[in-house]
Amino acid sequence: SVDSQGLYNQKDNVEILTATNFKQSVTNSNRAWLVEFYNSWCGFCQRFAPSWKDFASDVKGWSDLVAVAALDCASEANHGLCRDYEIMSYPNLRYFREGFQEEPNNYGFAMHRGVTAEDHRHDLVKVIVNEQTLGRGAHFPNMLPFTSNSLDGIFEGAAPAVQYAILTVHEPTSLIGPELVLDLHSSPNITSRYAFTNNTKLASSLPSGPLPNLFIINRSLHPVLLVPKSYDRQGMLDAIEQNLKGKDIVFPKNPHKTNDEAEDEEKQPPSYLVQNMQDSVFQMDLETALRYSLKREVGSSKEISGEKLTALRNYLEVLADYFPLGLNGKKLLKQIHSMAQISQVVQGNEIGKLIKEAEAESRQVFSTPQKWLGCQGSSPEFRGYPCGLWKMFHYLTVNVAEVNAKNRSTNPRLALQAMHGYVKHFFGCADCSEHFQEMAIRRKIEAVASLEDAVLWLWQAHNEVNKRLSGDLTEDPKFPKMEFPDKRNCQRCRNPDESWDSGEVLKYLKRMYSSVNIHYMGAD
Ligand code: FAD
Repeated sequence: SVDSQGLYNQKDNVEILTATNFKQSVTNSNRAWLVEFYNSWCGFCQRFAPSWKDFASDVKGWSDLVAVAALDCASEANHGLCRDYEIMSYPNLRYFREGFQEEPNNYGFAMHRGVTAEDHRHDLVKVIVNEQTLGRGAHFPNMLPFTSNSLDGIFEGAAPAVQYAILTVHEPTSLIGPELVLDLHSSPNITSRYAFTNNTKLASSLPSGPLPNLFIINRSLHPVLLVPKSYDRQGMLDAIEQNLKGKDIVFPKNPHKTNDEAEDEEKQPPSYLVQNMQDSVFQMDLETALRYSLKREVGSSKEISGEKLTALRNYLEVLADYFPLGLNGKKLLKQIHSMAQISQVVQGNEIGKLIKEAEAESRQVFSTPQKWLGCQGSSPEFRGYPCGLWKMFHYLTVNVAEVNAKNRSTNPRLALQAMHGYVKHFFGCADCSEHFQEMAIRRKIEAVASLEDAVLWLWQAHNEVNKRLSGDLTEDPKFPKMEFPDKRNCQRCRNPDESWDSGEVLKYLKRMYSSVNIHYMGAD
């Protein structure tokens, strides 16, 4: 078993899956599995995780029927599995029914992704009800509505030990009835059903109160209407438990929040040195971002063709011409670019393989270990790849501008287009990608008319993202997001009235991201 990985640990009720335990857990299981495939560096996944943990705690009492799990696709070891299951954006929720068998084109059922723990619970309940409507999910208790027009049959199929039936009557839009069925399923003495108010014959034969109506029915079919303190799940469970007190009934344990919200592991502080060099660009971050991008993101795409292939070619072209690598590295990027140019369909993993082979070879292609330096967060879920990617694209816009300063025929949007296409088709953080595309339209990326405007366009776009994320849960407390560049680093970048002096900002960016100012700390 795995104690901790990525955004989850043993203290959560989320079961941690890895490439090693996935198959033996999920396939041929006697329970269903609801798996979040995520990416620990993806800000949306980080914001999503608390709701997934709350959800897992909330439905802990159902865990003999359905497991709530998570698998970190950012972990190198899990990457192949995520590729096989065609996980292209994160977080990605899949439902694997009980007895799931691996077979081609069966990658689980892609679930709707809600926001709150309650959304996740509702989505799960809907899927289970739907499964039973289709004749599956036999290991769940009966989750279908009770459609009989009298109480006859409410104990149908119940074991002899079952002494009481719970019946909830509510609007068809509510899910409270099916939820109580799941909450009560582990009691050997209670069976639980629900009916809709449009079952008018049944409803009119029962006493009524404010909806939802909650009844306890004994074997003589005598209904007692309960009046809970609150008409939510917990209030209704409390009312049932209260009513059955002293009746020698095994009542399910309160599934709610037994976990203490223990602190996450100790955070490891980054070195002062790097912290004080925030506006420096490190070769190590650029190379690590490049390798991650080609091995993991491009490498995860199965067949790349059409518009996506065009995006890949544009990206590779800019990399081959402007990414700072030595001779062998440049040769490799050119080779990959030509391969993409001449093929109608490119397999992403071929590109990933070329990078991995180059890493294994003794000839020097890359100059740094695959680690973060300036982009190292104060704990593993912070910074890393998205930080490296921003830096790489700033570097590219600046260097395309620098190299072609006198070349008027260069496409002013060369680097921006490469980035736009990459983010659209390959960047695993799907929501970042959507925001970026929306921003590209709103900020008129197509109207950028000079290489220098491209540098400034990306600076402004990045600042907009910084502003939006300032104070967000994904913000590394050691590296607060702010409008860039900070006043302390560039006083001249701001006019006396605090507005930007874009000429000075441009100078600052050109200096910071210039190839001559790259720091080779930690490089060979
Ligand atoms: P980052 O914002 O990643 O910045 C990295 C470094 O770039 C900084 O340390 C600084 O040296 C430099 N820098 C900062 N601002 C500027 C600037 N304006 N101009 C030039 N250099 C600058 N996360 C979300 O949660 N939601 C999103 O919608 C989202 N969209 C994204 C879109 C893209 C294209 C990318 C690459 C990432 C996106 N992210 C998004 C991730 C987010 O922007 C950060 O990258 C992530 O939170 C890590 O932040 P960080 O503190 O390391 O700094």
